[in-house]
Amino acid sequence: MTDERTADPADTDASGEADDVFTYNGGRVDPGESVNIRYGISETYLGDPVRIPVTVVNGQHPGPTVFLSAAAHGDELNGIEVVREVAHDWDHTKLHGTLICLPVMNVPGFLAQERYLPIYDRDLNRSFPGREGSTSARRMAHRIFTNFIEPCDLGLDFHTSTRGRTNMLHVRADMEYGDIVRLANAFSSNVIIDGQGPSGTLRREATDAGVPTITIEMGEAHRFQRSLIDRALTGVASVLAEFGLHRESSVHWPGWRILIDDTDEKTWLRADAGGMVDMKHGRGELVREGDVICTITDPFKEEEDIVSVEAPFTGLIVGVLENPVVYPGNPLCHLVGLKPETRTALERERNNADPLLSYLE
Ligand SMILES: [Zn+2]
Repeated sequence: MTDERTADPADTDASGEADDVFTYNGGRVDPGESVNIRYGISETYLGDPVRIPVTVVNGQHPGPTVFLSAAAHGDELNGIEVVREVAHDWDHTKLHGTLICLPVMNVPGFLAQERYLPIYDRDLNRSFPGREGSTSARRMAHRIFTNFIEPCDLGLDFHTSTRGRTNMLHVRADMEYGDIVRLANAFSSNVIIDGQGPSGTLRREATDAGVPTITIEMGEAHRFQRSLIDRALTGVASVLAEFGLHRESSVHWPGWRILIDDTDEKTWLRADAGGMVDMKHGRGELVREGDVICTITDPFKEEEDIVSVEAPFTGLIVGVLENPVVYPGNPLCHLVGLKPETRTALERERNNADPLLSYLE
């Protein structure tokens, strides 16, 4: 049975609680309790509260506190469904620890189905950890960060590609940190891209604040993509097993894994001509140097004038254009090079397994 409540900051001051009680500015969640909170982070032009949905599931047994967050970009929907299912469809009666579920952080962007906060187009995911007394975006980020991120031990932040593009499910993680290596590996995606991420992102700022956090990139904006959602749920279950929250589950191994770091070639290939794009490859496909990735044409182009875009090196297509129109300079695909041994392992895996199940989530 989930209790439901509304809280705006400074309702009450909760402090001095035992370790296994989860407290936020406005209330507390005791062990064995599950609470849905509409939590005030700002006010509209009408002075009405802007409240984000938060579900706190505090297990019967002590253990780590983990946040799962989505829709920092308001039109990125896949993660919302992942977080919702974990919060409401999973059985947490044997949970060791606490789950903080934040399915929609950017509520104004979500309502408008836009990536950014509609208020001056601010990027909530460049506004963390936020600050009281600063811009509207930073104030919202601050309320989220201090109440629901800082108290955690680990975090998973779900994203999709930007509108008009798609990407294969992959993890972004700063592999300098031992806890993040463990977290990123436990999520069991095939591809991990190493890096600390831009400043102001939830992932980087949470990590800097002592809460090891990874980003999961999956698919495209404005969609629920069931196969990707299922794949991400497998990752969440695996993380909860690895860190002892769900002791009856087991850690998942994805079969193959590549870690892409700064020593690997990677690039967003960009269009040099404006026009319409005929994409020849999808996300998750391996292309060889010289392969035609796409062609660009326009209403008057003759056959011989069609522009072919070739792969500059052999690699994996991690992200790709979906909306098939470009200006010169627009991105076409995110191609990452693979070390020879990784490429061999990947090719062997794909030759043996059902090619659709093994990598095209
Ligand atoms: Zn995003």
